Amino acid sequence: MNTQDRLNFVNGAFAPAKDGAWLDDLAPATGQVIARIPRSTKADVDAAVAAAKTALPAWAKTPVAERAALLDRVADLLEARLDEIAEVESRDTGKPLALAMSLDIPRAISNFRFFADLVRTKTDDASMMADALNYTHRSPVGVCALVTPWNLPLYLLSWKTAPALAMGNTLVAKPSELTPLTASLLAEILNEAGCPPGVFNLVHGLGAEAGDALVSHPDVALVSFTGGTATGAKVAAAAAPQFKKLSLELGGKNPSLVFADCDFEKTVPGVTRSAFLNQGQICLCGSRILVERSIHDRFVDALLEELKAWKVGDPSDPATKIGAGISAAHRDKVEGYFNLALEEGGTIRCGGTRPPLPPPLRDGFFLEPTVITGLPATCRTATEEIFGPVVTVHPFDTEDEALQMANGTKYGLAASVWTSDLTRAHRVSQALESGMVWVNTWLHRDLRVPFGGVKASGVGREGGRNSLEFFSEAKNICVKLD
Ligand code: NAD
Repeated sequence: MNTQDRLNFVNGAFAPAKDGAWLDDLAPATGQVIARIPRSTKADVDAAVAAAKTALPAWAKTPVAERAALLDRVADLLEARLDEIAEVESRDTGKPLALAMSLDIPRAISNFRFFADLVRTKTDDASMMADALNYTHRSPVGVCALVTPWNLPLYLLSWKTAPALAMGNTLVAKPSELTPLTASLLAEILNEAGCPPGVFNLVHGLGAEAGDALVSHPDVALVSFTGGTATGAKVAAAAAPQFKKLSLELGGKNPSLVFADCDFEKTVPGVTRSAFLNQGQICLCGSRILVERSIHDRFVDALLEELKAWKVGDPSDPATKIGAGISAAHRDKVEGYFNLALEEGGTIRCGGTRPPLPPPLRDGFFLEPTVITGLPATCRTATEEIFGPVVTVHPFDTEDEALQMANGTKYGLAASVWTSDLTRAHRVSQALESGMVWVNTWLHRDLRVPFGGVKASGVGREGGRNSLEFFSEAKNICVKLD
């Protein structure tokens, strides 16, 4: 073991994998190994689930005020270490440090504070009959498996951990093997904040090994999974026959619908940010831009102009807006789509290449932001999730055509609509097959609202009360009144 090793956290203690195997963790900006994590097996998962099961009765009985106080202490400790945690997140993901400082870590902090407040103030439903009172009693579900992806590591883990703990569950988290570091810092912080042993457990490792063992485990009652659609299908296949509670937050190919009556000066930067923030690696990114034909060419010119300010390079440079992609394999996948787009008749209007960067960044997984035009909206490049700094732009003539294009993929996570016609905004938003729609904005998040997708983008909703309900079992109690 060396100082760069990060450990599992099981029953309140940090430990390597039982069989001593390790995985390397790379910095996407340099391709260099920055840490090792345990390559956990079923035996490690079994130990973590057993610890969570043992800790469950006492945590479930812990008063809500005490659970909420723990979440607040976690938020305070995260806040006190914001700079350090943001630096680790940026190094582990390749994202700009400025983004981790302004978005990822502040959002993780507010997730803990938000769910502390929500669980303190939540009320339960009651329904009166003439001769009886019905009320809903909520109890914890049990041991919960939290499986998270690499694009927003701490942000998404905190989004699940906070409501799950608030409702009295005990947890086993399996973060992405590509970005494990801030999950380990969270385990440290939960421990320091006084989280009892076994209430939060962390198992590092590969999806097909530790992840599969976790979601298949008979003592896991709930699976909250965020990741790719193909993996989501495997997780559902493992969990469904055991009737586990299941939430799947999956992939997307989100449309941005730009109408000729939009506020052009605001729409161009808004749509650009939606396409390229976090290297285009946010499940909500608008990767298909549908533009009313009368402004299509002007819009594309303005998009290309706007992108000149999106500097690619060193994630620690405050001027950088596009950092490294997550891995060499992922970069190869994205580059494969550049070739496919050309085969499908598209024109690469900017990007489509690796930026020339000096060492050590030369060995990182960077790509220039890429805009592709001239593709049919039904082709593979325009309908498959690429999850990189790439957008396709397509003209449309009518609102119906725009909706047909927007709804013409297997996904349905998020969409944005850019128009100054309020009636149209409502009409189009309601007709979109999408779990979330933003009008004249994007990633404008209120933590109280339902979050999730339709079709191949997921099953279930998290966010606000939806999270508290998902992480609890509702029981109706009917009391006869004399
Ligand atoms: P992924 O599906 O490869 O991995 C996600 C997690 O699942 C990782 O921790 C991985 O180790 C684990 N895993 C892999 N195989 C598993 C298995 N058989 N059983 C259990 N766990 C397994 O996804 P990724 O590449 O890390 O993340 C990118 C994807 O996540 C994109 O498709 C993106 O759209 C999606 N995503 C969705 C949301 C959302 O809220 N809808 C948010 C972020 C990312």
